[in-house]
Parts: sequence; structure tokens; C-alpha cells
Amino acid sequence: MPINVLFAAHEKRWAQYEAPLRTALDEIGVEYSLGTDMPPSEVDYIVYAPSSPVQDFTPYTRLKAVLNLWAGVEDAVGNPTLNVPYARMVDDEGLTQGMVEWVIGHTLRHHLGMDAHIVNPDHAWVPDAPPVAADRPVGILGLGELGSACGLALARLGFPVSGWARTSKKIDGITCHTGTEGLHDLLRQSQILILLLPSTPATENTLNAETLALLPKGAFIINPGRGPLIDDDALLAALDRGHVAHATLDVFRVEPLPQDHPFWAHPRVTVTPHIASETRAPSASRAIAENIRRGESGEPFLYLVDRDAGY
Ligand code: NDP
Repeated sequence: MPINVLFAAHEKRWAQYEAPLRTALDEIGVEYSLGTDMPPSEVDYIVYAPSSPVQDFTPYTRLKAVLNLWAGVEDAVGNPTLNVPYARMVDDEGLTQGMVEWVIGHTLRHHLGMDAHIVNPDHAWVPDAPPVAADRPVGILGLGELGSACGLALARLGFPVSGWARTSKKIDGITCHTGTEGLHDLLRQSQILILLLPSTPATENTLNAETLALLPKGAFIINPGRGPLIDDDALLAALDRGHVAHATLDVFRVEPLPQDHPFWAHPRVTVTPHIASETRAPSASRAIAENIRRGESGEPFLYLVDRDAGY
């Protein structure tokens, strides 16, 4: 009997994903039917994104797994009707590589002080060479798929890299911290701070008035993680008094960022519209198909969400 795969994401994604998903499913050699509309009681797998029309999983009585198209899972992780294995997206070739490039780009922008030369209306000749990477400690909050890949890439460029995670780890080239003390130690030394934590109750306002004050004066913040990781008012206050030199923010509590939000007009804030990285259809489709292959052959699913931890 063919397996039924429901693509339950925004319809514009269907146009992007239908062909790559068919190619990837063909490659794993299962008989399948793939579509955006099928009787719930006949669905085996749901490919899911936050804009999904499926919010109540109860009618999906033979569902084997929900496979998230994105890395972030905060929209569905607390859904009490989702009672089957729930996997998030890990897409090394697309999502991870894209995030590494975005983080490196924005880190180098601040490290090299590029803004002063790109926008220089007074034609000021200030020959202050930037420090080398070895003299610019970088901190990364979150050492998962994305945080560790970014950390390793920054370490390869010569930056001293520290990272913070929930559980302790050993990663060559990254000094790893855990716990509140570990967070505080990392913040005290990070001239550039990158946030790649998931949005969970435990990570909300990780950067607040108290923790922002621990950063060295003139630190830079880069947040491609999630908006709720930062207390917006505390960040604005730290920017206003120059304690934080600049914040590059890709993610916000409300998206699109409302036009009247002070971040838009703040001279020390760069807003990017949640584009740090994206799941890329061909590689993400292969990741989805691999989990379906595993489900069908009785192997454990990859990248299962820890429902208790919330990520
Ligand atoms: P992972 O789940 O692989 O990594 C999450 C990391 O955060 C882990 O190191 C984890 O610790 C750590 N962490 C979680 N909770 C805590 C806590 N309470 N205290 C300390 N550390 C904690 O996620 P990814 O790396 O794949 O993605 C990270 C986030 O990036 C996503 O959740 C999403 O929000 C965001 N993202 C943004 C995109 C964009 O375009 N802006 C694109 C894709 C993702 P441990 O290792 O111990 O579990």
C-alpha cells in the first residue's frame, strides 16, 4: 500500500517543494502519494511549517510522524494534539551553510568596522586598522547544529570562540560553557555575541538588563536565533547609552517587525527580515525523505524534538 504524505505548509511553499520532494521520495524507493489535501485518517506523514492549515492533529489517526520544514519548532512543540514523533529540520547543505555565511558576514562587518568606510559622507580619513581576529573574542549562545557550525567557521578564521549550551560539550576550537555562571563568564569576554538558541520558556529574555550589562562596553550583538531571546527595551537602553555598539537583528517577537517599532529607526540597529538562513528545497526534501525512509524501515527518526525541553 502506498504511504500518504500530506504537505501542510503555506501554498507558496508547495510550488517550491513539490518537485524536489517527489525527486527525493522517488530516490528512497517507496510507493507514495504526495499532496496538499487528503483525508486525515489516511495520512502517514505530515510535512509541517508554522503557517500550516493543520493545527489539530487528532483526526490524523494513522499518522507516523510530523516532519518540520524549519529548524525552529516553537509553534508546534506545545501542541497537545501532536502525539507522534516530531522531527525538526537539519539541512546541512542548505540551512546550516546559509547560516554560517550570514553569521560570518555580519561578524566581519562589525569586526572590521566596515560601516565607517561604506557610509562616510564627510570623506573622513581615519587610518585606524582593525584588530586581527585573534584579538576579538566571539561568544555564541547555542551550540547546536547551527551554533556549533558557525563557531567552528569563526574559529577557523582565527577568532577565539566561546559557546554556551544547556548540556556540557567538547568541541575542538570552542570553549564550551553551561549554566548561569558559564553564561556570565562568556558574556564578560564576548566582544561580538551571536544568539543561536531556540525559543523556549527557559531561553526567553536570556539577554536582559542584567546580562547585557556583563558584555564589554562597545560589544556587538547578532541575533539570528529568535526574537524572544532578547528583552527589547533592555537592548534599546543598552544601545542608547552606547554599552552595546550595534545590534544586527534578524528575528523579532512580532514578524514582520511593526513599522512603528523603535528598532527600525535606531541608528545602532540593523534589521534584516528573517532571512539569515532558509531551508533549501532540494536538500531539505532529501532530509524529509530520509526520515520517511527510516520510518518505513523501522529505523529511529533523525532530529526528534525533545518535547519537554521544547526544542
Ligand atoms: P539546536 O536544537 O541544534 O541547538 C540549540 C542549542 O541551544 C543547543 O546547543 C542547546 O543546548 C542550546 N539551548 C537550548 N536551550 C538552552 C538553555 N535553556 N540554556 C542554554 N542553552 C540552551 O538548534 P539549531 O542550532 O538547529 O537552531 C537554533 C535556532 O536557530 C532555532 O531554534 C531557530 O530558532 C533559529 N533559526 C533561525 C533561522 C533564521 O533564518 N533566522 C533559520 C534557522 C534556525 P544543548 O546542545 O545542550 O541541547
